[in-house]
Amino acid sequence: MTHQSIILGTGPAGLTAAVYLARANMNPLVIEGPEPGGQLTLTTEVENFPGFPDGIMGPELMDNMKKQAERFGAEFKRGWVTDVKVDQRPFKLSVDGLGELETQTLIISTGASAKLLEIPGEKENIGKGVSTCATCDGFFFRNKKVVIIGGGDSAMEEANFLTKFANEVQIVHRRTELRASKIMQDRAKVNEKITWALNKTPVEMISDGMKITGVKVKDSDSGVEEVIETDGIFVAIGHNPNTEFLNGQLDMDEKGYLIVEPGTTNTNIPGVFACGDVQDQNYRQAITAAGTGCMAAMDAERFLEGEAAIDWSQSLS
Ligand SMILES: Cc1cc2nc3c(=O)[nH]c(=O)nc-3n(C[C@H](O)[C@H](O)[C@H](O)COP(=O)(O)OP(=O)(O)OC[C@H]3O[C@@H](n4cnc5c(N)ncnc54)[C@H](O)[C@@H]3O)c2cc1C
Repeated sequence: MTHQSIILGTGPAGLTAAVYLARANMNPLVIEGPEPGGQLTLTTEVENFPGFPDGIMGPELMDNMKKQAERFGAEFKRGWVTDVKVDQRPFKLSVDGLGELETQTLIISTGASAKLLEIPGEKENIGKGVSTCATCDGFFFRNKKVVIIGGGDSAMEEANFLTKFANEVQIVHRRTELRASKIMQDRAKVNEKITWALNKTPVEMISDGMKITGVKVKDSDSGVEEVIETDGIFVAIGHNPNTEFLNGQLDMDEKGYLIVEPGTTNTNIPGVFACGDVQDQNYRQAITAAGTGCMAAMDAERFLEGEAAIDWSQSLS
């Protein structure tokens, strides 16, 4: 059986695409991937998704989106894509747990995973004081002290942003030199709320069982350990777009983010569309992911309609 459309990923982008395609009677098949519900299942309260004046828990929001897509006939399957062949249509997918699948159009919404330090106390405290998204969680740290880990442009940008809320933002970086551009460093250096703990490697995140209380760091030269007290820890060491399974078959930038034609979700292969964080290293928000998910569904629908119109005109001539 060849599907009209397969959607990869069930974050806000994939689920919004599923709602739109299901309502357009395109019977999308949605592959859930390794993280059903996507990144928002890692967090607690989401306060900036429009339509929820009192906020909503991340997993509940994603569950609602899935139910909404199912209501219109979207089909969901567990499994993740290990290989694709997009050199000819129908496109072929190898899906772990499901075998080979074929589809006329493909929507890639596999997201981008925040890199973590992989140290004790980190993963288990995400949403309890450890965050990978200042835009998302900065608001929860009004008049508090936070630590930001990283030395690149995004760490500097997030540190500046966090000073709108926190009393003190301490940048912890394992080297003395920062990777960030000079202009971003200069901006951070003149900000009076930003303090520095350079040449310190984080080794453990410390919690009192309810919330984060500190981060243990080791001096990169002497090896001497100390605990920096803090109310929150932002890990800003970059993201990995989930595109390895494509084996370079689609145009990507040097970091592996998919490149789309501006103002659309078209990749360089007609019939393959990309939406959400997998093609966006700038905004990385649930609402922008959902917005581009809507665009991908409409692009896929119009693509197939365009082909059907060509078939018709040929059969009439
Ligand atoms: C802790 C945390 C808190 C956040 N808080 C907020 C917030 O408050 N507000 C906000 O707007 N944003 C927030 N964000 C950001 C937001 O979650 C992301 O911008 C959004 O989830 C991106 O949506 P997406 O659909 O592009 O991808 P994701 O949510 O990343 O979903 C990717 C999907 O792709 C699937 N997948 C991956 N690889 C494969 C594969 N090979 N085959 C099949 N499927 C695959 C995964 O299983 C997953 O379902 C937060 C992020 C984090 C990490």
